[in-house]
Amino acid sequence: MGPAKAELLRKEIEMAVYEDLLQYYPFRHIDRSKFYKISELQESLALVQLKGVITSFELVGAGPKQRLVAQFTDGQGQMDLIWFQSIRWIQSGLKIGEPYVVFGRPVQFKSAFSIVHPELELVKDLQNGKGLLSLQPVYNSTEKLKQRGLDTRAIARCTWQVLETAGNQISENLPLGLRQHFQLIDRRTAFRQIHFPESIEKLEQARRRLKFEELFFLQFGMIYNKRARKAAQRGHVFSQVGQYFNSFYQNHLPFELTDAQKRVVKEMREDMRTGQQMNRLLQGDVGSGKTVVALLMMLLAADNGFQSCLMAPTEILATQHYQSIKELLGELPVGVALLTGSTRVKDRRILHEKLRSGALHFLIGTHALIEPEVQFNNLGLTIIDEQHRFGVAQRAKLWAKNTIVPHVMVMTATPIPRTLAMTLYGDLDVSVIDQLPKGRKPIKTMHATDAQRLKVFEFMRQEIAKGRQVYVVYPLIEESEKLDLKDLTDGYESMSRAFPLPGYRVSILHGKMKANDKQFEMDRFVRGNTNIMVATTVIEVGVNVPNASVMIIENAERFGLSQLHQLRGRVGRGAEQSYCVLMSSHKLGVDAKLRIKTMCETNDGFKIAEVDLELRGPGDMAGTQQSGMVDFKIADLTTDADILRQSRQAVEAIFQYDPELQQADSRHLAQAYKQYHRRHKNWSAIS
Ligand code: ADP
Ligand code: MG
Repeated sequence: MGPAKAELLRKEIEMAVYEDLLQYYPFRHIDRSKFYKISELQESLALVQLKGVITSFELVGAGPKQRLVAQFTDGQGQMDLIWFQSIRWIQSGLKIGEPYVVFGRPVQFKSAFSIVHPELELVKDLQNGKGLLSLQPVYNSTEKLKQRGLDTRAIARCTWQVLETAGNQISENLPLGLRQHFQLIDRRTAFRQIHFPESIEKLEQARRRLKFEELFFLQFGMIYNKRARKAAQRGHVFSQVGQYFNSFYQNHLPFELTDAQKRVVKEMREDMRTGQQMNRLLQGDVGSGKTVVALLMMLLAADNGFQSCLMAPTEILATQHYQSIKELLGELPVGVALLTGSTRVKDRRILHEKLRSGALHFLIGTHALIEPEVQFNNLGLTIIDEQHRFGVAQRAKLWAKNTIVPHVMVMTATPIPRTLAMTLYGDLDVSVIDQLPKGRKPIKTMHATDAQRLKVFEFMRQEIAKGRQVYVVYPLIEESEKLDLKDLTDGYESMSRAFPLPGYRVSILHGKMKANDKQFEMDRFVRGNTNIMVATTVIEVGVNVPNASVMIIENAERFGLSQLHQLRGRVGRGAEQSYCVLMSSHKLGVDAKLRIKTMCETNDGFKIAEVDLELRGPGDMAGTQQSGMVDFKIADLTTDADILRQSRQAVEAIFQYDPELQQADSRHLAQAYKQYHRRHKNWSAIS
């Protein structure tokens, strides 16, 4: 291939070396084992393959409309093959009376069929080592590539040539024992068969082998890198449990921890004693009580002479964390401050000062925490709430504030399906709070159409009469922000009419409001001064108002499952029975129906995540978009759960039996991993 084409390939599809070409897998194969008879042709057949001979050909017409027409017969029927372009060149190659394979789309004119611009191969050429392929690969190509002749056929030819000339340089990267155990074909065969399969069965074997390899090295890398990091990275030692922790635990904690909370507290204390740096994901469904766990860890840091910070994705949430932590601490002598975008310059200056002197123990806030002026005296623990809202780069900035990296705890309420957890978070240790505090009643969820709105209003009145509060949430989607905002304000007005003063008070909250106004409305609702909060999804994350027991979600069909689950989690936080009403129009698509049905049937975040994964595929799962982590060449987490499980087993077994990777096979694997990942994304940069 000339340099111009090569450059185009590099630019268009990042194809630079043989390996890229070999890993440019066909997205499907055309079954060319079937030959049609001309008498069987129908317009509905997209592509057909015929065998026969050309009996004659002629040029028809003149000028730009000139065409080449060849008569083709399969011995019984007769049809025309027609070319409008490259006429002379094709004509010069046509051979009368020699058997051809013809491939293309049949079109009917009157009663006769013809194929325009068919693919044409002499049967003897196909048998001559070019391979009589029953399954022909089809590759993606771009417009620009096609213009330069680099269409699917050209890519197939290049791939074929590379396999012919350099195929014997493809080296195996999985040990024989492992391959035998999991019945994986060798790598060289796999590459040949995935492009040019001899049979469907061989194609399947090739796909399985290459998927396994991809998932295997991904997970191998996770563990490998985690171990390397642990070996290299020293962490602060939190050796003692002291006054802060103990007096809070004994005198201030307003409830008993659930067993699950106790377990994760223990896991983390274990981590932080060792001198290694903790890097842990705390996963717990909405309302499972992650905040108090965070607070206990921060107290532990204080006991050992370290500061901690807690970073939240929104100002409202940061403020709420601040308030609830202040309240929990009571008169314990702990220095706590809040830092957000709206903290006044004067207050900031004082805060910075106290932070540097060490007078502040806890700093709670938003992105404002990662600004360069914010300097800790000795930051020992960083906690990030709802981590999927923060990019890797932002988190890295926080670490950079110390010479010894602080312990890191990332809290998320987004349940990750088990199949995904290791793939996404293999680099982190994971703790799970899999239990809700005692006495919580499961939220009852119902579906209502717009026609049932009056009934829903009636229900809201009943609940408000019992002293409860209600959320009414509208979707807000970037692209249609204006329309959505109108929906929201219309909704607010109709709520205000249906729930008039003086009996009722309605709040409104959306992202476009000033921070002060937001806080004001939120405070009114938290204090119970308003009965109804009409809001966009700004309340999605983490807001805690235990007296709010009804969640009405408008246009529920427009929300994704994980978002619906998050929203519903805003209620059910007190001792009262809570409800969630999903409002939608009467007509619903299949997916929307399944989402709503799932929500009505279960409160289990993991089950919901599984359905979400099925519906949307892993690329769209919350938390995976920004990180660009799910970017596989061939594996597909939605459909390859089995292969994922097997490859995980394999990886775990290797590290269990040979943790230092001393045996020959393991050493080869480590080599192969480096080889494999030199040219792939850096998957380990997640935390
Ligand atoms: P999330 O995990 O969603 O962040 P929170 O930490 O906001 O949940 O806790 C939800 C509510 O449950 C809070 O009001 C909190 O005080 C309360 N809570 C937490 N742990 C317990 C417990 N062990 N027993 C009773 N209530 C608890
Ligand atoms: Mg929370």
